[in-house]
Amino acid sequence: MPIVNRIADMHGEITAWRRDIHAHPELLYDVHRTAAAVADKLRSFGCDEVATGIGRTGVVGVIRGGKGSGRTIGLRADMDALPIEEATGAPYQSTVPGKMHACGHDGHTAMLLGAARYLAETRNFAGTAIVIFQPAEEGGAGGQAMVRDGLMERFRVEEVYGMHNYPGLPVGQFALRPGPLMAAADRVTIEIEGRGGHAARPHFAVDTVLVGAQIINQIQSIVARNVDPLQAAVISICVFQAGSTDNVIPQTALLRGTARSLTPQVRDLLEKRLHEVVEGTARLYGATAKLTYKRDYPVTRNHERQAAFAASVAAEVVGRERVDDQIAPVMGAEDFSFMLEARPGAFIFVGNGDSAGLHHPAYDFNDEIIPLGTSYWVKLVETALQG
Ligand SMILES: [Zn+2]
Ligand SMILES: [Zn+2]
Repeated sequence: MPIVNRIADMHGEITAWRRDIHAHPELLYDVHRTAAAVADKLRSFGCDEVATGIGRTGVVGVIRGGKGSGRTIGLRADMDALPIEEATGAPYQSTVPGKMHACGHDGHTAMLLGAARYLAETRNFAGTAIVIFQPAEEGGAGGQAMVRDGLMERFRVEEVYGMHNYPGLPVGQFALRPGPLMAAADRVTIEIEGRGGHAARPHFAVDTVLVGAQIINQIQSIVARNVDPLQAAVISICVFQAGSTDNVIPQTALLRGTARSLTPQVRDLLEKRLHEVVEGTARLYGATAKLTYKRDYPVTRNHERQAAFAASVAAEVVGRERVDDQIAPVMGAEDFSFMLEARPGAFIFVGNGDSAGLHHPAYDFNDEIIPLGTSYWVKLVETALQG
């Protein structure tokens, strides 16, 4: 495999950075230690500019090529961890109770740091590489915060690329597709109001537990009967809170869940039908239901030309036969989607091998893939900015 030699030499050091970040997980925008370590390293590598506090705690490094002027390309990693108690038993496991790097953002950050070091050392390109380290990927829309803070304009980013490890995809493989790669993820909250009362006298009450159950059942018909069977959609109700004892019909009930889609048309349909089904079902039983549909992360949509380019770069690292450039979309979501709405670019998966799944307490980023991800980043810059 044509891994860049210098990067193979750096494998041990990048692994040490990754494990240090892993041992000190931080959540959402509170990535102060991680962001400070990233900024320190970028300065020590000799980046031309290091900016902190972009999108609250995001960090950006600017590396100008040694072959003259040219285009400007952004490479993005995420820095935040998850509120999960770690169960890997790794010697470098989390030192913070209830927090862990269960999505591999420690590895993403370390690989992009490795690439930044190589690019700052060699500068074998024409134009500018922008390395972007964002906070709050896990539900906080840190990618959007950086875009809103002027990331693209301030650093004149023309194209932007992202990468995520992928458990179950073998080590040594990459995967992506043009168009929708990951879903739009919207938050659904349903507040049901009925009439509380004695459990033995239901005819004087409006039972919010029954209404909640009916709403959950009726919602299933939206994906089954309203969405085109050849289109993808998910509605999962994951919270049902009502009542506090066994002989009282509760006055209120709360449902919460997620709605996922891959196109604007299906997204609009889910929102419209949820309103109709939820409000109509509640009315049928004499209750009221207030649906709050919050549009959260948009579809992660790869741009055609940049996806083809990313696939060709990955093929240079691992060989054409180890790059799946037509992987089926997944219904997970990513806030790199906000960056892809702002600039053309592509998001790629790098195989994490046979590990526990993302967000699982036993998950760990696979350090074996560091040279692959890091080589992908540097080849992407050197190829895109050949001059
Ligand atoms: Zn995650
Ligand atoms: Zn992630």
